[in-house]
Amino acid sequence: MSKTLASHPHTTSRLALSELAPGALQSEIRAMSTECDRIGGINLAQGICDTPVPGVVETAAIAAILAGHNIYTRLDGIGRLRVAIADKQLRDYGLRYDPEREVMVASGATAGLHAAAMALLNPGDEVLVFEPFYGYLVSTLKSMRVKPVFVALAEPDWVLDTDALRAAITDRTRAIIVNTPANPSGKVFTRAELEAIADAAREHDLFVFTDEIYEYFVYDGAKHICLATLEGMRERTIVMSGFSKTFSVTGWRLGYVTADAKWMGAMGYFHDLTYVCAPSALQHGAAAGLEQLPPEFYTQVAADHQLKRERIVAALRDAGLEPSVPAGAYYVLARASRLPGETSAQRARHLLAETGVASVAGSAFFRPGRGEDLLRFCFAKKDADLDEACARLRKL
Ligand code: PLP
Repeated sequence: MSKTLASHPHTTSRLALSELAPGALQSEIRAMSTECDRIGGINLAQGICDTPVPGVVETAAIAAILAGHNIYTRLDGIGRLRVAIADKQLRDYGLRYDPEREVMVASGATAGLHAAAMALLNPGDEVLVFEPFYGYLVSTLKSMRVKPVFVALAEPDWVLDTDALRAAITDRTRAIIVNTPANPSGKVFTRAELEAIADAAREHDLFVFTDEIYEYFVYDGAKHICLATLEGMRERTIVMSGFSKTFSVTGWRLGYVTADAKWMGAMGYFHDLTYVCAPSALQHGAAAGLEQLPPEFYTQVAADHQLKRERIVAALRDAGLEPSVPAGAYYVLARASRLPGETSAQRARHLLAETGVASVAGSAFFRPGRGEDLLRFCFAKKDADLDEACARLRKL
């Protein structure tokens, strides 16, 4: 026994957390939400959109339960939804995926990334991640002992520095993660930036994982470009998206991956291992949405959120918190240097105490020591709640 314990130098007991288990179990975002609930505040911290679910999606999911669609599905999802996703990729981006072999329904884009990373990356590999970043992307890599290598985007417009991108590539680099439109910055990568990423990926033979969960949340005529459409990129791009945001069903845990058939078998294997399949009846709801909602639905999603963006940006300006105006997604990063505190967590807590509006500390989206004067506000809220939050911010 002592021999076995000696091989675990970090512990003298077997009743111990794994090497990978984080010390701080509660994330700052969750902590803010708890504190916000305690004081009855307005939660602009968590990215939970509480806008209504499209009727057709709701009705089809309920009907599917009543019709008995309550058992396991094929590990990559029901045929109807895979066909609808393939049709959507063709309609929106001109990308052809075989619904039998190149589309996987996942338990959220989150599970899609997890399965893709398990299938394609090895411990010790390096993956480039743009900063500011969505924390799950980084934590998922770390949970597989894959090393995130950060490439900082330049404030205030979060412009990509192509030289910095290229300088970050080493012999161990296997992939680049692109989240566009991005959480938390609202950046929508331009065609020129995506071309630069694609050039680097082709030159160094890298995968690109694209998180496109906010693909329909684009403002001021900005255009979402799916990186897989660029020359030579379809084979090496793993496209991840989902229904959480577009259909306001974050709790349904329903997303998808589209990629070349070469990679799909292994991804399906790992998704099956953790989730077995995505929720069966809810897959019918999402399929009905994709099949029946007209193009105007998607333009309306963007138009509605653009108006919400105007409201929060104006309120933040009035409050002296300098917002960086997002071109997409539904968050605003604002400079909060005028609030007291050494860290962004302290600034967020001060703002919550003073106004009852919860935000997320900027440090959650950067390497340690960075983002300390930034706060993130989510504006995918019902108008009444957003207006109340704006009124409270203005009293600051
Ligand atoms: N990717 C990004 C960039 C997000 O911001 C979020 C949610 O906040 C997700 C993925 C989660 O997607 P899903 O609910 O499909 O797992």
